[in-house]
Amino acid sequence: MENLESIILPGLSDKKPLIIAGPCSAETEEQVLTTAKELAANGVKIFRAGIWKPRTKPGGFEGVGIEGLDWLKKVKAETGMYVATEVANKAHVEAALAAGVDILWIGARTSANPFAMQEIADALVGADTVVLVKNPVNPDLELWIGAMQRIYNAGIRKLGAIHRGFSSYGKHLYRNMPQWHIPIELSRRMPNLPILCDPSHIGGKRELVAPIAQQAMDMGFDGLIIESHCDPDCAWSDKSQQVTPDVLNYILNMLVIRDTKQTTENLTLLRQQIDQIDNELLEILNKRMRVSREIGQYKKEHSMQIVQTDRYGDILKSRIKLAEEMGMSGDFMKDVLVSIHEESVRQQIEVFNNRIK
Ligand code: PEP
Ligand code: MN
Repeated sequence: MENLESIILPGLSDKKPLIIAGPCSAETEEQVLTTAKELAANGVKIFRAGIWKPRTKPGGFEGVGIEGLDWLKKVKAETGMYVATEVANKAHVEAALAAGVDILWIGARTSANPFAMQEIADALVGADTVVLVKNPVNPDLELWIGAMQRIYNAGIRKLGAIHRGFSSYGKHLYRNMPQWHIPIELSRRMPNLPILCDPSHIGGKRELVAPIAQQAMDMGFDGLIIESHCDPDCAWSDKSQQVTPDVLNYILNMLVIRDTKQTTENLTLLRQQIDQIDNELLEILNKRMRVSREIGQYKKEHSMQIVQTDRYGDILKSRIKLAEEMGMSGDFMKDVLVSIHEESVRQQIEVFNNRIK
């Protein structure tokens, strides 16, 4: 995998960032063509649309299937754009290649499955197409690399990666946690591999597309794949994260593209890491307060007093010891813990007074 070529698409390979845009799903011929024409008018050169949609639960919209390939052919014929779609098995690969789809991407649920990856790789032998592999849903860099190796071993050289974030349990600011250190490590291990960012699936919300896209540009990603729909509110899938072609154009125009690939030493990158860590800290603190209130409720129901000094003493002692083992100052950890404890007690008092649950 050392000598990966860059994605080769005539006239596009030297242009940074590479932009792929289009709806989450192809829904109707009209929606596909309207969206594609609006995107093309805004200068987008590569159109995406999912035809086979992996859904978490049965019963949802699972894509229009091969019918949609004819719509993609029309997009090519009428706009001159390159077209991209997701493939998840041998039959998808064969149908997409036969229809002249320029770029195949492999989704996060598929790249997590080595059997599916091998089946796709086998179906790709002899093809001269661009293949983009999204990270697996779980934050496992080796699994991601393994998925790409299977495609590479099948003879595909126009290979790239898409960072779409990693799923995690519970409610978070992001739909899929960016965990930027994982694509950064991928880039360190495979410096020639083009890596695109998918801010739509990371953020899960329209308003997060622009800041995540900017972050990706600041970190030196090679391109962006962004969901765009002619009428996002009526989209059949992922409606809250899709933007209109005009909004997409605005977002792309606002992006600040820096020339040099930034390194981990770079201040911007380090500050972004701090922002990310602070978000995680806030979420963790919030979770702790929630559990604390549940404890307050329990104590109330069992007529126990709020402050249990033995428990508090144990917490202080064990956490301070752990912090010191990690190389942090014990005094600092004591201040943090005292302050967290104060707030926990305050919240439990509120529960006792029936002000919150
Ligand atoms: C998609 O791109 O529409 C998609 C299903 O993405 P992911 O595999 O990243 O969830
Ligand atoms: Mn989607």
